[in-house]
Amino acid sequence: MESMHLQNVRVWVGDGCWRTELPIVDGCIAASSGGSAFDCGGRVATPGLVDAHVHFVMGAQSRGGIDLSNVGGRAPFEATLERAHRALPAGEWLIAQGWNESQWGDGASTPTKRWLAAMGDRPTVCWRCDLHAAVVNQAVLDRLDLPADAPCCQSGLLVEAQAWAHLVPALPEPALEDVRRAVVDASGWLNSMGITGIRTMEYRKQLEDVLDVVSSQLSLRTTVTLLDRTLPLDVGWLANRSAQLPRVIGCKAFFDGTLGSRTARMATPFLDRGDCGQWVECAADNTDVKWCEQVQRAGLAPSIHAIGDAAVARAMALLVDVPDAVVGTIEHAQIVPEDSLEVLAQIRLSVQPTHRAEDASTAMESLGAARVARMLPLRTLHNAGARLAFGTDWPVTSPDPMRTLAAAITGRTVSGEVLHGDQTIDNEVAIHAMTLAAAEATMLPTAEGLIPGAPADVVVWDADPFTWQGHEPSPRPWAVFVAGRCVYSLTGAC
Ligand SMILES: [Zn+2]
Repeated sequence: MESMHLQNVRVWVGDGCWRTELPIVDGCIAASSGGSAFDCGGRVATPGLVDAHVHFVMGAQSRGGIDLSNVGGRAPFEATLERAHRALPAGEWLIAQGWNESQWGDGASTPTKRWLAAMGDRPTVCWRCDLHAAVVNQAVLDRLDLPADAPCCQSGLLVEAQAWAHLVPALPEPALEDVRRAVVDASGWLNSMGITGIRTMEYRKQLEDVLDVVSSQLSLRTTVTLLDRTLPLDVGWLANRSAQLPRVIGCKAFFDGTLGSRTARMATPFLDRGDCGQWVECAADNTDVKWCEQVQRAGLAPSIHAIGDAAVARAMALLVDVPDAVVGTIEHAQIVPEDSLEVLAQIRLSVQPTHRAEDASTAMESLGAARVARMLPLRTLHNAGARLAFGTDWPVTSPDPMRTLAAAITGRTVSGEVLHGDQTIDNEVAIHAMTLAAAEATMLPTAEGLIPGAPADVVVWDADPFTWQGHEPSPRPWAVFVAGRCVYSLTGAC
């Protein structure tokens, strides 16, 4: 039996209680102390943070890639691409991501293939930050089975199904060894931010080729929601999965797109477009009920991507009839439908405060004040009893959990303004949403907090996250434990 205890520490157990020491035996919280002492110098500790919604394999691959998230318009966009172009061997695809035209100030336009002209015949793909749109050059379009006179071939801008069904299958496959190494590296990087658990959205292929192969090297509790969604669902292979591998808990369907790409499905039109956005996939062909039945029959949890208020209303109507123990979730729920609080409180909401912070800049002109007031109103949802599980949607936004917590407790947007200051939540509520509630919604075993018998996933903080006002510098992890093992320390002590 291995035993130790954290001492000289103020532990937020997670259920409203505090402790002054934390005994750990064989990777779990114990009832009484023994073994070696780990002096925490009077610091505050919390349960390990859980990110309820990431695309882990994709996120790991995006690290060190060509990053367009900080470009402020066409000239720096083109300059970044040209630098990358010069550094790449001839013939290799140039794949960049992260552009967000809504951050570029007034009059900024969406990129087109003309912005990629300097790449010549090098196939070039630039994903928007939300991964629901990509601008590509002619060298890529020539490889896709799209009619040459289609508007998307004129602009080079592929949105939703054009990107998913046509572009993604044409992309070159990266070397598996490289992807696996990136995933192991990313696991340690997430630990250093205090993250000890994730639920990741993966296709079976990435799960089996990458995550399963390296799972024993990851210091990250992981559950998986499958992205494979063609009906009839192919889930027979799950019966043969070893219990040692990341647990597959659910399946995801998409009902709509995103606010940034104006493809979220709204009840009334976008003010700057004149249409209501899109229904996509099973919501477009009305197989959503059938999908939900098949997911449940497989013993899995249905998770529905729904962002616009019409999409959220439809997801809500479907999931409210799913038994609570099935743990269905609405992913994003960004524009809450009118008069929906009572029903929403019966469903787990997997939400991303950083999406609100990023979408805020164009929200007023595209949605108008009445709908902006319904844009992830955290306090109203919390007061109504909603079960909020926080996540980042990495690599769509940064995986840094402190950005998520800051957005939730301050209401601040990426431009520094406060969007709706009356909709902020207290630090403790926000931390609960990123620890116990996120674990509960994603079937991770840390949902009870740091009580005896629970896994010893713990973050000791260099500053108190409960009195933090949400400004930089944020509290950072001082030491991080997963199953009682120190996986990161600020001072390099482990
Ligand atoms: Zn996502």
